Amino acid sequence: MKWICFLMLILFAVKVFPQQKSSVDFKTAEGTLSFFPEEQRVQGEISYRFTVLRNIDTIALDAKNMKVELAPGDTLKPKLINTTKKIYFLYPFKSNQTYAIKIIYEVEEPKQALYFSNWHSDNPQIWSQGQGKENSHWLPSIDDANDKIKFTIRYSVPKGYRAIGNGTLVKHVVQEDEEIWHYQMHHPISSYLVAVAVGKYQKKEIHSTKGIPITLYYEQKFQKYLEPTYRYTQRIFDFLETEIGIDYPFTNYKLVPVRDFMYAGMENATTTLFSESFFTDSIGFIDRNFVNVNAHELAHQWFGDDVTEKSSKDHWLQEGFAAYYALLAEKEIFGEDYFYFKLYQSAEKLKSNSDQGKGQALLNPKANALTFYEKGAWALHILREKVGEEAFKNGIRSFLQTHAYQNASVNDFMEQMMKSSGQDLTSFTDQWLKQSAFQDEDALASLKKSTFITAYMEVIRLRPLSLSAKYDLLLKALEFPTNPYIGQEVVQQLIAENPSEQRLKLLEKAFETNQTMIRQTLAESLVKIPKELQKAYESLLKDPSYRTQEEALLNLWLNFPEDRSRYLDRLQHTQGFYTKNIRMLWLTLSIVTTGYQSDQKEAHYRELSHYTAPQYDYAIRENAFGLLYQINRFTTENYKNLLQASLHPAWQFQKFSKALLKELLKEEVHRENLNSLKPELNAQEVKVLNHYLSK
Ligand SMILES: [Zn+2]
Repeated sequence: MKWICFLMLILFAVKVFPQQKSSVDFKTAEGTLSFFPEEQRVQGEISYRFTVLRNIDTIALDAKNMKVELAPGDTLKPKLINTTKKIYFLYPFKSNQTYAIKIIYEVEEPKQALYFSNWHSDNPQIWSQGQGKENSHWLPSIDDANDKIKFTIRYSVPKGYRAIGNGTLVKHVVQEDEEIWHYQMHHPISSYLVAVAVGKYQKKEIHSTKGIPITLYYEQKFQKYLEPTYRYTQRIFDFLETEIGIDYPFTNYKLVPVRDFMYAGMENATTTLFSESFFTDSIGFIDRNFVNVNAHELAHQWFGDDVTEKSSKDHWLQEGFAAYYALLAEKEIFGEDYFYFKLYQSAEKLKSNSDQGKGQALLNPKANALTFYEKGAWALHILREKVGEEAFKNGIRSFLQTHAYQNASVNDFMEQMMKSSGQDLTSFTDQWLKQSAFQDEDALASLKKSTFITAYMEVIRLRPLSLSAKYDLLLKALEFPTNPYIGQEVVQQLIAENPSEQRLKLLEKAFETNQTMIRQTLAESLVKIPKELQKAYESLLKDPSYRTQEEALLNLWLNFPEDRSRYLDRLQHTQGFYTKNIRMLWLTLSIVTTGYQSDQKEAHYRELSHYTAPQYDYAIRENAFGLLYQINRFTTENYKNLLQASLHPAWQFQKFSKALLKELLKEEVHRENLNSLKPELNAQEVKVLNHYLSK
């Protein structure tokens, strides 16, 4: 009969669990976690202290697929029941009493939230992703973000590796074959904000103007990219502290790059993890840099980590706010035109989405990223204009002060805004938070406050006119000093025109602006290059932009076959972005260019093919797979790498790999080759392959 009692108990416990927050308040967690990367195993001992708010006989921790038992040092001795999702502690807990429980646990190959990345390569890493993935897959904790806990965790990792965790590093001990990194949080946080990263990291310390230590981590091979990658970090930090008007809420801040990250960045409390693919040199910085993500994750330290949403209905308080403050930080760095252009672009997207009936309310807990991030930022921009800067800043300050280290709702926020402004904000709430349609008229009225946007929209209005009717105006728009956004619009209009003398003249003028952004639009859009512009177009190969160089190389190669070798020679030593965009395009083109470096073709193919291997970030692998598909050449190694990739934890890459696999299987030769590989694949890979073979 034990079995039945057990089942009933579980059902009961599961049923009461959603109210646990009203019965128990978890205060501290203190533990030691050992990582065994060879077996992808975590072993830990953790003790929780909590106060019971009303008499209750069961409390629970979230813990997925773990072996758990009470630790030898546990003094309370509750009855412990472990399921695949939770650990239940049975005990006659009394109201207003504080208790401690201590458990030991083990988890092997966590399904999600903790990733062991290439432990057998030369740059292995372990890292976690709590939000949306549940840290309870590797750390017994509380999935509900409403119970905030002060975490103190010691991470034991193999010798030679650094563990980076939340809060202050209070102790570091090197033992015979392990290193122990002891971190302590001084403030309570939601469990999803706990994070760890383990790797062969170096670090550089900087400080904010107010003295907060900011640690910039990197792997040795990226040292030369340190400055452009982390450019403006201190300025962003100082700017946000001043702009928000409340001191940074924690004791320190760390930025940790990880490989194969499924997001751009994640705002774990004090410890932002971000995609290693943001590492860049100064040229790459121009097209793709870390500034926005850097500011976004830092803004979350106030909006999300310090004050956390009560439920997903309040998600605007996190993503909308982080997106808005990141945009303000970018305005500080890149200027007002940049700021208004970004607002303009997102208004265009939101309007078109809304016109198609796909608009969503910000209070919709299931809204998409466009709504939470971009409509969310727009709502704050409009609110600030409505109540005025002073009332807005006061409202933000009192909101953060009132709910410091707690959870809050959108109502809580609006209440503070109404107090600080003395205005009735019901209509704002109705139109911007509750309405699914985007308020494009409000947005347009706000955009028109920028003289740049007004001028930009005047050029857009020229679109339907014939070239001769608008020639003078377009010429004027390209005159020095050319606004880069307006220049790009002019180029787009010219590209749509049929060849003519006037078009040629204006295109020449666009080349001569020497504006990187305008020339980039030429590189991307002028796919059919007029002979008269060949020289001008060739000069794009030297522009300080890897996007421009890549587009220019490909288009020149396609337009002027007799000069292919000359173009390839120009870029033969360029790598490009982190994704090696130029190197890989160069390898591909040199393989298929007849007579070019003929004795090197095999070596070039091997190099390109090798970039599909698991030790590279998926951004690099995706690029390599795409190019191999173009030349339709796959080795056994490539097939294996593709099958491995179709099970990759980063969903974007998994999706890409499955789509490519499906495409390859349409051809008999690939079907046969893949089929013959089965004996060498693991069970999961065979399953994926069979699934697509059967379609
Ligand atoms: Zn965010």
